[in-house]
Formats: sequence, structure tokens, C-alpha cells
Amino acid sequence: MRRTPRGTARKLAARERHRSPDKMKDTAIRDALVERGTVLFNAPKKLFPFTREPRADALLNDLTGHPHAFVLACVMDRQIKAERAWLIPYRISEKVGGFSMRTLSTLSRTDVKRLMGKPDPLHRFVDIMAVHFHSAVQRIETVYDGNAAKMWSGEPSSAEVVYRFLEFDGIGPKIATMAANILARKFKIPLADYFSIDISADVHIRRVFARLGLCPEDASVEQVIYRARALNPEFPGMIDLPCWEIGRNWCKSRRPECAGCYMKDLCPSSAEKR
Ligand code: SF4
Repeated sequence: MRRTPRGTARKLAARERHRSPDKMKDTAIRDALVERGTVLFNAPKKLFPFTREPRADALLNDLTGHPHAFVLACVMDRQIKAERAWLIPYRISEKVGGFSMRTLSTLSRTDVKRLMGKPDPLHRFVDIMAVHFHSAVQRIETVYDGNAAKMWSGEPSSAEVVYRFLEFDGIGPKIATMAANILARKFKIPLADYFSIDISADVHIRRVFARLGLCPEDASVEQVIYRARALNPEFPGMIDLPCWEIGRNWCKSRRPECAGCYMKDLCPSSAEKR
């Protein structure tokens, strides 16, 4: 067995002693976030406002009647604002008179390109997104018998759900994990585990992570994702919504309102402590 040299062991022990208070602080912060995350996770299901258009949101939230609308919106969510991307299924439904798989599966690639391109382009990259939209419809039709809900039915593992999204042309890891995250947290779809439900490390989440001392200010998206995995491996995404909520309500980019924030006693950046 390899032995640690005595001097190195002493240094490691000293470093560990030095790190211990931080670890305790991180654990306390993690526990507070997980506690709030659990409350939000167990809250009753509500209509999720993907866009500012109620009819588009109704379509996207209809996982029973139109589960493919959610999947196709994920496919469209690239290189434009999410709100605009998530409107695309509804805009197409207006043009073709509904959004049934029966109607969508009869559309050719050229039809989709025309629907997405005229009169106003629905996406910044109509040509490639029309190809991805058409290919996604064909995939749902052939692999899932026209029922996209089969992608998440029967309590699959979180990794399996992420993988199934990744099989669609145009969907990368960021959108695939976001999709699984929304299914689990917003739509309350039961999964066998939550190991692969990651945090969505947007600018607000990164700001809150940095102020809570969980990562440096200039941390990359990957650093934040792996930090969340290290903090709560069984369900890294559990701390996503609490951080988003803290960022929206109190931890604003210019003037954090620490007095009202429930993390103020634990947070190293709290103005209350200064
Ligand atoms: S205590 Fe202040 S700095 Fe810390 S997370 Fe809350 S609002 Fe942000």
C-alpha cells in the first residue's frame, strides 16, 4: 500500500483543518437550499409560464394531449431567446389549424420551412431549425408511435430521459438536462432517480452561487454544475429553484436585498453581516 509521507500528511491535515469551517458552512447552505427545494418540489403542479402567450403556455403544458409540443419547443430552444423559441409550436399550430401529431406528421421538410419562414421568420435560423423540427416529428412518430409522453412514462431513470432527449437532432446536453429538469420539477413526472437532473447554471444562479461562497465569481457553467453535483449528488437540480428564487427576490445583480433573504445568516456576502 502506498504511504503518505509524514510531512505531506501533516500538510494535508492542516489544510483539512483550515477547510473544515468552510465545509461546515457549505453543508449548512446546502441543507437550507435543499430544504427550500424540497418544499418547492412537493408543491402542487401549476401551469408553467414558458411564454407570455397564455394559449402557447396551455399547449406547452398539455403533456397529456400534446406531449410533443414540449419536446418540439425544446428542439427549437437554440440561439434565440427561450421565450421566442417556446412560442414556435403555438405559432405553427395557428398556421396549420391545430398541433396534432396526425397533422404534423404529414408535413414535409419544405412545408415546415415555409411555415417557419413566412411571413415573419419564427426563428433566427429557419433553414436548419426546420430540418430539426421535421426530423423531431418523424422521430416521435416512428420511435414513440406518435406519443412523445413515452419518452418519460414508466418511471425511467433521469439519465435515460436525458439520453432520449439527446437523441434528437439539435438537442445538446444543456437543453436535454433542462428538459428532464422541467419534467421532474414542474410537471412532477415520476422518475426512478434524480441523479442526472442538473442545475441550470444561468447568470442568476451563478451570481447566487458566488455570493453564497459556493464558487468563485468567474466560475464557468461547468464549475457551477459540478459544484451542485458535489453538494447534492442524489439530486443536483434540487437547489436550482431555490437559487433562482433567491436571485429573483433578493439577490439582485446591483443591490442585493439581504435583509429579506432567508440565507442572510449563512451567506458570507450578506450586507447584514457587514
Ligand atoms: S444574503 Fe444577500 S448576498 Fe447573500 S444570497 Fe441573500 S441577497 Fe444574496
